[in-house]
Amino acid sequence: MKDTAKSSAEQRPNLLFIMSDDHAAHAIGAYGSVINKTPNLDRIANDGIRFDNCFCTNSICTPSRAAILTGTYNHVNGVTTLVTHMDNGLPTFPKQMQAAGYQTAMIGKWHLGHGPTHDPTGFDHWRVLPGQGHYHNPVMLEGRADGSGYEVVERGGYVTDLITEDAIDWLDQCDSDRPWMALVHHKAPHRHWEPSRTHALLYDDIDIPEPETMFDDHETRANVVKAMEMRLMDLDPITDLKAPVPKGLNRTEEIKWRYQRYIKDYLRTIASIDDGVGRLLDYLDTTDQADNTIVVYTSDQGFFLGDHGWFDKRMMYEESLQMPLLVRYPNRVDAGLVEDSIVLNVDFAATFCELAGVEPPAGQQGSSFLPLLLGKKPDDWQTSMYYRYWMHRDNDHNVPAHYGVRTLTHKLICYYNDPLDQPGASGPIDPVEWELFDLEIDPLETTNVIDDPVYASVQIELKTELGRLQDRVGDTPIA
Ligand code: CA
Repeated sequence: MKDTAKSSAEQRPNLLFIMSDDHAAHAIGAYGSVINKTPNLDRIANDGIRFDNCFCTNSICTPSRAAILTGTYNHVNGVTTLVTHMDNGLPTFPKQMQAAGYQTAMIGKWHLGHGPTHDPTGFDHWRVLPGQGHYHNPVMLEGRADGSGYEVVERGGYVTDLITEDAIDWLDQCDSDRPWMALVHHKAPHRHWEPSRTHALLYDDIDIPEPETMFDDHETRANVVKAMEMRLMDLDPITDLKAPVPKGLNRTEEIKWRYQRYIKDYLRTIASIDDGVGRLLDYLDTTDQADNTIVVYTSDQGFFLGDHGWFDKRMMYEESLQMPLLVRYPNRVDAGLVEDSIVLNVDFAATFCELAGVEPPAGQQGSSFLPLLLGKKPDDWQTSMYYRYWMHRDNDHNVPAHYGVRTLTHKLICYYNDPLDQPGASGPIDPVEWELFDLEIDPLETTNVIDDPVYASVQIELKTELGRLQDRVGDTPIA
């Protein structure tokens, strides 16, 4: 490596962006998990910064991925639901970095559609799972070098291990005189939670602690929330839990049994992710690239881990809304930082581009949180966020369409309950309902105080703020 080239490479950092699918922050050691250990993910937090209020703007896979790549909200990028695949002609941060001379790769779960208008773009190399992909012996699709579609790659192995190995293989062949950017997207811990053989018996002889709200009665919640079909009792015993329900259990006993079956497999798949992250961090150490590489760990959204009696995501409630976000960059970011300012998935593109010294994608709507990484919070940093879930009463979970605002202290949700002809949305238009939570005295969101007169003025303020945010991002109020 020439000295001049090396100093140039040192000025421009590499970016290793590791994203899992449905990994809730409360299943990460660094976030205080009481249900599992993640020593390698914790390395990123210990050597870098942990964000405690990172939120998605639509808690579902495809839309959140589009928001991350483009830095735009889903009403702008058009990826409102699971079945609205992303137009790969949109400006994205990988395209910006590729155009600026970065070596770029996308490895793992894409989930933004396939074909000429949806395949990955902005990457020198891509090898992705078709759709959701499989846990065991997964087929993958590898883009041809001449840009004419893809080859099908078939081999044996466990998906998380293969994605990790593919990432290391690609890093190994990179030129050392140019910076690189790798998106490493894991399928795990997405439903139906199939562990590797290595971790198949992990937790077999213990009970995992139950969440405090597992028997939440949902009494004060909106009617459409009470009707959702993502309770532990809605899990399929065979496909989800891999065993028939034992005979003779009462309802409480059955919920407890279902929780253990569900959470153990969920956590087993995370154990493989943690192993893989450890291998990637070790690789950066042994190749002397750790100091000048930004390592990011996140998930496309959160997940209910039996919280409120639910699994899945989609909702604006905390467990689903929160994304884990750990960032390590020894050359510029101090070790052991914790940041509670609000950052969003739409902020990632602007941040990565600023770190790389390139222009953000055209039309992006986020705010670079580079100042937060450097411990220099701007006085006018955002103190509220806008959320919108479009996929009204989808066939699987019966979750209502809603939007809302979260501040540092409160959350207001409007269930506008209209499919609005969105692909993948269905069902009748239901009456509009509202919920309000006081996060300071009720952080677990067990009591909706929308009808409590004590909160009358707070409610007015939040409705005003919701309207202000909708106006700012260019979305249209329904109710
Ligand atoms: Ca997901």
